[in-house]
Amino acid sequence: MAFDPVQSLSSARHEFGEHGGVNMSIEASTTFTVLDPDVMPEIFQGELGPEAQHKGSGGCYLYGRHFNPTVYVLGRYVSAIEGTESGYACASGMAAISGSIMQCCEPGDEVVASNTIYGGTFAFLKDYLPVKTGVKTTFVDITDHDAVRNAITDRTKVVFTETMSNPTLTVCDIPAVAEIAHAHNAKLIVDNTFTPMIVSPAIHGADVVVHSITKFISGSSDIIAGCICGSTEFLLDLMDLHTGSLMLLGPTMDPRIAFELSTRLPHLGLRVREHSRRALTFAQRLEDRGVSVIYPGLESHPHHKTLVKIMNEGFGFGGLLGIDTGSREKAFELLEYLQNVERFGFLAVSLGFFDTLMSASAASTSSELSDEELEAAGISPGLVRLSIGYTNDLEVRWEQLERGLRKIGLLK
Ligand code: PLP
Repeated sequence: MAFDPVQSLSSARHEFGEHGGVNMSIEASTTFTVLDPDVMPEIFQGELGPEAQHKGSGGCYLYGRHFNPTVYVLGRYVSAIEGTESGYACASGMAAISGSIMQCCEPGDEVVASNTIYGGTFAFLKDYLPVKTGVKTTFVDITDHDAVRNAITDRTKVVFTETMSNPTLTVCDIPAVAEIAHAHNAKLIVDNTFTPMIVSPAIHGADVVVHSITKFISGSSDIIAGCICGSTEFLLDLMDLHTGSLMLLGPTMDPRIAFELSTRLPHLGLRVREHSRRALTFAQRLEDRGVSVIYPGLESHPHHKTLVKIMNEGFGFGGLLGIDTGSREKAFELLEYLQNVERFGFLAVSLGFFDTLMSASAASTSSELSDEELEAAGISPGLVRLSIGYTNDLEVRWEQLERGLRKIGLLK
């Protein structure tokens, strides 16, 4: 039967507050008392942590940079949405990405990564990792499965991709890429930031699913946060006192933030549905009017069928769409007009906000890429990325967008 993330979240064990509150309590302490000194070594060895509690053998907490109960519950809820055994929240999406990749690799190991990924991840893999750790990355077109296969060597430990890539909205055929990775004993790590609820990569074979919670999951552009979902074994590895990258690099989430975010998960599905409904409506109208629009919900999108194959039912095709304005100048003119004259949205990076956010990708979130890398990734200078919000009436928003496109000559 198809996976239903809303059902899965609803069925997850609910954490009540200390006094029976419908929301969980915030455990703000950074350190935890232990009644019996004998159990301290077992906690240190991970035998009595919250993951053990999960299995019914009693839980003990140690120190806030290790597991914290409130942060742990948020991770458990996100892992329910992703259909993984476990999950743990951390300080940012980049912490989730860097922590999980570093956990899988040793000096001399290799990563094969999609060439159309968020600029920060690209810089981490291309510039930071080889210099600091000796881990080398080969970038490939993730939709070219022969290229993925050919790039894998016996040192490849990780294949990394985004479900739907930033900013070209390339969709990865996760089951096919998982099969290739597993045939070579590599782990598939998938960044699912653009498509929470819409796609559950672990159901299709991903070993680890990472999120920038900062985006859709938060929904309010007010918190930087991340999450790593995977097996309990992997989560315990990340928290290992000697070799765990979450434990030792220390990108810890504050429990007050974890609480705040936990109250946003129950309406994530509703929000994603409305982002998607509006984005699809705009994309269809733009296509009908002859505008060059990139949206995976359109049958004309090269990966429409791939997305249909892996998507969960009822959440649409996502809130992101791209418009190719033809040049950097036109892109800037459109952004300036839509924000400053029409108040259609904000000229700002990031995505998943309740209002529309707009940026020219080549000059902003993908500026870490060289001109050649931008071309290889299919990011044209005039590409405007829109994260479609759900404020105001849809028809009012459409008229604003229409006027903007008329202003730069893309619509008559
Ligand atoms: N992954 C994707 C797809 C992103 O778009 C971003 C940020 O824009 C990140 C990861 C990094 O997330 P954070 O800013 O929360 O570290």
